[in-house]
Amino acid sequence: MEKQRYERPILKKLETGMPGKFGIAANLPPSTHIDGISVDSLVETYGSPVFILSEKTIRSVFKKAKKAFTTRYPKVQFAWSYKTNYLNAVCRIYHQEGSWAEVVSGFEYDKAIANGVEGQHIIFNGPDKSAVYLEKAIRNDSIIHIDHLDELYTIIELTEKCAKRPKVAIRVNMDTGIQPMWDRFGFNYENGQAWDALNKIMHFGKLELVGLHTHIGTFIMSPQAYGVAAQKLADLTIGIRQKYNHTIKYIDLGGGFASANTLKGFYYPGSDTNPTFDDYAEAITSALLNTQFTPDNLPLLILETGRALIDEAGYLLGTVIANKRLSTGKRTTIVDIGINLLFTSFWYEHKLTPARHYSQYTEATTVYGPLCMNIDVIRENVNLPLLNKGDHFVVHHVGAYNMTQWMQFITLRPKIVLIDEDGTAHVIRDNETIDNVMNMEHLPPHLK
Ligand SMILES: *Cc1c(COP(=O)(O)O)cnc(C)c1O
Repeated sequence: MEKQRYERPILKKLETGMPGKFGIAANLPPSTHIDGISVDSLVETYGSPVFILSEKTIRSVFKKAKKAFTTRYPKVQFAWSYKTNYLNAVCRIYHQEGSWAEVVSGFEYDKAIANGVEGQHIIFNGPDKSAVYLEKAIRNDSIIHIDHLDELYTIIELTEKCAKRPKVAIRVNMDTGIQPMWDRFGFNYENGQAWDALNKIMHFGKLELVGLHTHIGTFIMSPQAYGVAAQKLADLTIGIRQKYNHTIKYIDLGGGFASANTLKGFYYPGSDTNPTFDDYAEAITSALLNTQFTPDNLPLLILETGRALIDEAGYLLGTVIANKRLSTGKRTTIVDIGINLLFTSFWYEHKLTPARHYSQYTEATTVYGPLCMNIDVIRENVNLPLLNKGDHFVVHHVGAYNMTQWMQFITLRPKIVLIDEDGTAHVIRDNETIDNVMNMEHLPPHLK
């Protein structure tokens, strides 16, 4: 038997708000392995910090989401939200699973093309589509989700030049009971902007109106809000059929489902309380089926789910740099993962577990990152065992947005590793080197 490590005794101040109804969990199960590979060996091989993605989890969560919808509605299509995680390896897994691409910039559009996605399976969203990229999208038969009238007029101008009939949808914003309302994108449902845009498209006659789109927000905890959104888009679809005898092919409800993360200020862990894919699917499909749609004119349901699909598959492994106490006596641990790599720590209480077994003694701890910045806090208050310098730990549910919103601030970005379904690890993005950064800089002659 391994000799037990000595841990000094501590006096523990009780912090209000720390325990839940069931008290404080006495022992924190460690995360010693990810998909069969030990955390220690991953850090040894690939460095610390390092992002790890589980292909097994990516595929199994996707299958769960798909099943929730396809068992309730006959025509469903997912489109992978590139901005959530646009690593080529990740995108290709979703494309293999049958997802189209949902992109919000020219850069993402080019990435989808480079990943072999057919033009007609790329949905082009976002408020900033340049004329150059709109033309590209029109020539490739991609679907353009119009955000504002200026964009509509640019597309109308381009129809002459391209001698094509662009496939378009409009993005609709609406009151679904969610505050704040995301009304900065697209055309408003309640005040008539959406109908105004639709009438302009239909009367112009040279665009093919194929769908209606909305993306009501992100980390939406209310499935019912999606029910309201689905019903409002169905209303527009039926209205267009009545007025123009034109059939809308699809209704796209965007993304925004909650992942298993815990939002700051929530009492119970998100993994226990957040709505499931089944909850969202039930609200959305019931709203669509309980309209005047008949089986032969039921629109395709498109979903652009991002974070709820990938969050769980991502881990960030790190190392303890030091422990110290604040002037108040509060215990703090400084780690090599900062907000530069964990942008989502502004919103989430990320689950954090040690990589080896500890005794059951824990203490309320603030976890700081390595940046010389006061706001570099990973967890304000988390019950942790007494981690020592050099110990490894795991941050969970980091697959969404962290690998696209990360910052190259005072340090270089780490490697990203994918563990495939056979348990083999592959580097899918190299760590940055100082050359990567320096090569982009130029010195004017007088400073050489
Ligand atoms: C960001 C975004 C998504 C994905 O949102 P999640 O909250 O990650 O599910 C989908 N559609 C559009 C238009 C987006 O901007």
